Amino acid sequence: SQSEIWARSDQYHNSFLLKPDPILDAAQEHTKARGVRYDISVSAAQGKFLQLQLLAIKAKRVLEVGSLGGYSAIWMARALPEDGELVALEVEKLHAEVIEENVRNAGLSSKVTVILGRAHESMKAMPASEPFDLVFIDADKPNNTNYFIEAKRLVRKGGIIIVDNVGRGGRLADENNSDAMLDGVRELLRHIKDDTDVEATTIHTVGEKGFDGFVYAIRK
Ligand code: SAM
Repeated sequence: SQSEIWARSDQYHNSFLLKPDPILDAAQEHTKARGVRYDISVSAAQGKFLQLQLLAIKAKRVLEVGSLGGYSAIWMARALPEDGELVALEVEKLHAEVIEENVRNAGLSSKVTVILGRAHESMKAMPASEPFDLVFIDADKPNNTNYFIEAKRLVRKGGIIIVDNVGRGGRLADENNSDAMLDGVRELLRHIKDDTDVEATTIHTVGEKGFDGFVYAIRK
């Protein structure tokens, strides 16, 4: 099937470009053992892409909106310097615990702060005086636009905002096809169209996560 071809292609490329990673494998195993949906994290190749973004801009501060078991958070926190910080926003208490556990096992506790609560409230309570270099939005899709607006306030000029899962198998383009997730992404696209503070593009992705994509935006 098409999805098997995409997964196989991801695995093939990973075999050259990604090293074996027992710490991340253990994190996924632990997340699964704690009964959390480990399989909806970013893929390994996407995690590394996020890490490379942070290295490219020499990021010190990162905000993640929606962290599940901390898989993408570990990828990103590894790119930060000793005095760097990743702030992870998560609404589920169990997830927040699992993030702390996985981050501790990965030796990254000093760089990761987990804030339990609804991400929009947590973001609104944050001062813009300590800006982030990159914000990764990967939580409840109907809130995408709310998160994007707050992310814009909290990211430095020239900083990056990445929003995951905007491809959704190509279903966005069929406006007869509607659900809360699709409509959440469409609302975000309409917002960005008129938002003069950012430049953005969608990069579609195929791989073990199927046909999806992310919005990549720069705060002007
Ligand atoms: N970024 C993670 C990774 O790649 O490893 C995956 C995140 S998962 C797709 C989405 C997460 O967002 C879940 O853990 C969910 O509990 C969380 N979430 C959903 N609604 C939220 C909200 N209102 N505030 C904060 N987190 C939320």
